[in-house]
Amino acid sequence: MAYLTLRNVNKIYPNGFHAVHDFCLEAERGEFIVFVGPSGCGKSTTLRMIAGLEDISKGEFLIDGQLANQWGPREREVAMVFQSYALYPNMTVYDNLAFGLNLQGVDEDVIEERVQKTAKILGLTDYLDRMPRALSGGQRQRVAVGRSIIRKVGIFLMDEPLSNLDAKQRVTMRSEITQIHRETGATTIYVTHDQTEAMTMADRIVVMKNGYVQQVGTPKEVYFHPVNMFVAGFIGEPPMNFIRRRVENGCIAVGEHVIDLRPRLGQQAAAFEGKDIVFGFRPEAIVLGDKGKDSASVSGTVELTEMLGDNANVYVDVDTDKVILKVSPHEIPEMDSRVCFSIPNESIYLFDAQTEMTL
Ligand code: ATP
Repeated sequence: MAYLTLRNVNKIYPNGFHAVHDFCLEAERGEFIVFVGPSGCGKSTTLRMIAGLEDISKGEFLIDGQLANQWGPREREVAMVFQSYALYPNMTVYDNLAFGLNLQGVDEDVIEERVQKTAKILGLTDYLDRMPRALSGGQRQRVAVGRSIIRKVGIFLMDEPLSNLDAKQRVTMRSEITQIHRETGATTIYVTHDQTEAMTMADRIVVMKNGYVQQVGTPKEVYFHPVNMFVAGFIGEPPMNFIRRRVENGCIAVGEHVIDLRPRLGQQAAAFEGKDIVFGFRPEAIVLGDKGKDSASVSGTVELTEMLGDNANVYVDVDTDKVILKVSPHEIPEMDSRVCFSIPNESIYLFDAQTEMTL
């Protein structure tokens, strides 16, 4: 049985705004689930309903098989880390960590042991006597995480916990949180708008848009088998390229090339005759040059190149469609030159231009 179950959970705010629609999810004990999506898509609202900080307007929320809609945050045994660290400014790191346990009336020596252990996991042992203002952003965030894990709860909820950190600190904390999760084994739900965080940390990702779940899957599933154009464009950096074309005789024309869609679409090809289709490919899936059989060749004009070190982004104009190619730093084409590239058949995605669903 799943540890956490959300069954058609909805949130309608008092002003009538329907923020979350029929959210369904089953999370296993110990799973690390990431909710990802653009600002305002309902991630925090869903997390807050799980935490018991927000009422569930419609639907069921179960913990370990028991209906928990009406349970308070304490009964749910959740710990939550917010974007703002919410540390007590007048307490030392030690007291910040010990605070929750003190409230619960836990024995002093048990508190001492747990504070020391938590501080060790998080590399805070040397900072226990400091006040939060004397810590860096990353250290403060670690105290905030420490305050949650010290309580040994079953469910760990995090709302954009890394957004106040700089890029380097984020990368470090990302792996630290993953490590802590491995050590504590708590079922974790983590909210972010950053697809890289989602891809690197999650066992499974829930992609949301406008209050609706678009897809639930492992990082590999959402990357390789996106269900629609939104997921395909949201997961992956730079995003997937899309070229919209009219289907004629089972083919589309891209630049001077004609791409036969019939082998991919099979029986469906006839249904798209005379209609628009979206041809998608990832910047990193291309190979420079015309590779002929088993791939689709496309050409365009190089508009801009960006050298990133381990690779380079090449911005190409294909019949006024803008696409990005990821190439090796040793094969960056000249600006304004014509470039031909191939997309292996297995890396081509086709979408219904009307419904935006993957074909
Ligand atoms: P962000 O990444 O910006 O935090 P989010 O995906 O977490 O976004 P939510 O905070 O869950 O989004 O908000 C979802 C939608 O619900 C937004 O359109 C927001 O304006 C709306 N909303 C949030 N709180 C309330 C409220 N108390 N009353 C009415 N609408 C609200």
